[in-house]
Amino acid sequence: MAVEEKVLLEVNNLKKYFPVKAGVFRKTVGYVKAVDDISFYIKEGETLGLVGESGCGKSTTGATILRLEEATAGEVKFEGKDILSLNRRELREMRKEMQIIFQDPYASLNPRMTVADIVGEPLDIHNLARNKKERNEKVRELLGSVGLTAEQMNRYPHEFSGGQRQRIGIARALAVEPKLIIADEPVSALDVSIQAQVINILQDLQEEFGLTYLFIAHDLSVVKHISDRVAVMYLGKIVEMTDKRDLYNNPLHPYTQSLLSAIPIPDPTFKKERIILEGDVPSPVNPPAGCRFHPRCPKAMDICSQKEPEFKDYGNGHYAACHLLD
Ligand code: SF4
Repeated sequence: MAVEEKVLLEVNNLKKYFPVKAGVFRKTVGYVKAVDDISFYIKEGETLGLVGESGCGKSTTGATILRLEEATAGEVKFEGKDILSLNRRELREMRKEMQIIFQDPYASLNPRMTVADIVGEPLDIHNLARNKKERNEKVRELLGSVGLTAEQMNRYPHEFSGGQRQRIGIARALAVEPKLIIADEPVSALDVSIQAQVINILQDLQEEFGLTYLFIAHDLSVVKHISDRVAVMYLGKIVEMTDKRDLYNNPLHPYTQSLLSAIPIPDPTFKKERIILEGDVPSPVNPPAGCRFHPRCPKAMDICSQKEPEFKDYGNGHYAACHLLD
């Protein structure tokens, strides 16, 4: 029997513009278009990797979904419910279902709190333990699920390594039994050897608790193992999105092709051409007309600076936005 896959998160035409103020009267003179009309969905139990260079809007996307930033326009639906229209009380309830893990585990953990209090705090906020004994038991279980021991409960964040601190952040996120975790560059600050450990823990937890992930990273190699599908962002837009295998074997967008060409291959006998992009990412205050990638695209044509390419399905859910494909 075919099982209907349920969509957990749906993002439609989401925009987040930040006003740029200038002059004595702090007048709005423009907008930083950090996220500019993006749409995607994540199915229950699935991991969507969201990848792009710094400043492309991927972290703002995560923050806007959770309403840590208020959206300028668009729709975010969680289990069919519109998150952007929830009032404060409803939002607090909803936050139990959606948690975030940050890049810098040290900055996101209160240095004056013990690990037991850091992991136990969400249990207190949402009244999820009846008494102290139950709270301590839950904290012990949560630490155990990320590979930390009960003896470490009364220590402070500075007594742990970067990888261990990220495990504490994951345990804290798990405390409220969320369905969706937005992992915002969770391994970028860690050594490569530790990155794999943290990714493995996230994968094990996904299996154990049926979690759904939006996994944000600036590098396609990091999301390769954990993602089911991958979306590539450039200057506030998603330029390509498809199944992982399809993206790595058959990238359609020149930007994705250039990102993939930068990933080192372990086999030295296999030569691949590295595509070097000219220039820096342009400012999102005044993004280039037409295709935003055209000033750096090695395949740009005349039409690219005049007309914005449509983001559409080129078969089997392989979405891309590029005039070359028409
Ligand atoms: Fe390059 Fe043109 Fe395609 Fe944009 S639309 S990615 S500039 S070829």
